[in-house]
This record gives sequence, C-alpha cells and structure tokens, in this order.
Amino acid sequence: MEMEWPKCLKCEIGELVPLSDYGREGSSIMYKAWVCTNPECGYNLRIDNGEISMGRTIGLSGK
Ligand SMILES: [Zn+2]
Repeated sequence: MEMEWPKCLKCEIGELVPLSDYGREGSSIMYKAWVCTNPECGYNLRIDNGEISMGRTIGLSGK
C-alpha cells in the first residue's frame, strides 16, 4: 500500500507523517500529531481535544 504524505510547508524538504496515540479509554486516536521527517526542521502539529497546536516540541518523552 502506497501512501503519500503532505510535504512540510516549513522546510519544503521533509514530509509530514502522522502519529497515532491512544485515548484514555483505550480507543486509538488516529493522526493525533503530525511531524516533519526532516530533523533539522522539527515542524510539528498536534491535535488535542479538537484543538490544533503547532510548534511545540515533540520529544522522545522520558515518561
Ligand atoms: Zn519541515
């Protein structure tokens, strides 16, 4: 299955790939966050409870 991701609008080099997450009740949340594949760019966008927030660092969280 071939999928195409949207190009990153910031660096125009990387692509935005979706990350999934799991909700509190165990239901999966598809495409909760999108991150640029270009590590030098670091653009990211996340969706929390219907609100979109951009530019927050998505780290490899130590949690
Ligand atoms: Zn980018």
